[in-house]
Amino acid sequence: MSAALFRDDAQLRECDARVVAVGPEGVTLDRTVFYPTGGGQAGDRGALVRADGLRIAIADTRKSRAPGATPDDAVHVPDDGQESALAHLAPGDDVRAIIDWDRRHRHMRLHTTTHLLCALVPHAVNGCSITADYARLDFDMVEPLDREALQAGLQRLVDGAHPVQVRWITDEQLLAQPDLVRTMTVKPPLGYGRVRLLEVVGVDLQPCGGTHVSNTAEIGSVRIVKIEKKSARTRRVVLELD
Ligand SMILES: [Zn+2]
Repeated sequence: MSAALFRDDAQLRECDARVVAVGPEGVTLDRTVFYPTGGGQAGDRGALVRADGLRIAIADTRKSRAPGATPDDAVHVPDDGQESALAHLAPGDDVRAIIDWDRRHRHMRLHTTTHLLCALVPHAVNGCSITADYARLDFDMVEPLDREALQAGLQRLVDGAHPVQVRWITDEQLLAQPDLVRTMTVKPPLGYGRVRLLEVVGVDLQPCGGTHVSNTAEIGSVRIVKIEKKSARTRRVVLELD
């Protein structure tokens, strides 16, 4: 099992790790700062660098589909043209795992903004996608949304400089508080004994395994570029960073 360092500290940009396996799926490590695609958030890119200079460019990170894998087990997917470098990488090698921080920080800013939107729109979420260029969040609702009011609300929450922190609760505690779950399409992973809650202090609290900024002020300038009626029961909000 791989240690998912980003779950406790999303601000980590790199770490030392040992190669566990090199296979057709990609490279697995004993620990990583690379976030694997999940919960709507795109997987990280970056590089694995060995002390002798061998460098594997990583194009994506995904959850392992190997039998017995947990949600923390990430596969680092090499970029095109890495075959000859990969041929020199072996289990047991020590590497430095380095993420593309500019891209990841955009994910974190946009992802945290989706939590602020959840606080402003009191409806269930039935779709979510977070990339470096935009985030979109689909709400299960029939009422129209007021873009100017939402934009002003987001700005107020960013300017409010609310701390963002992680809390863990047991499966039983979550099952006793089903109202915590805002997303219909992404169920929190039960069966591992504990569930990760993301708290924007005083604003939002819900299960989430993604990466977030440490304070809403770190989001900076974000704007709602589109609100659309996706279907009779879905309103889609699209966000971009300035
Ligand atoms: Zn989140």
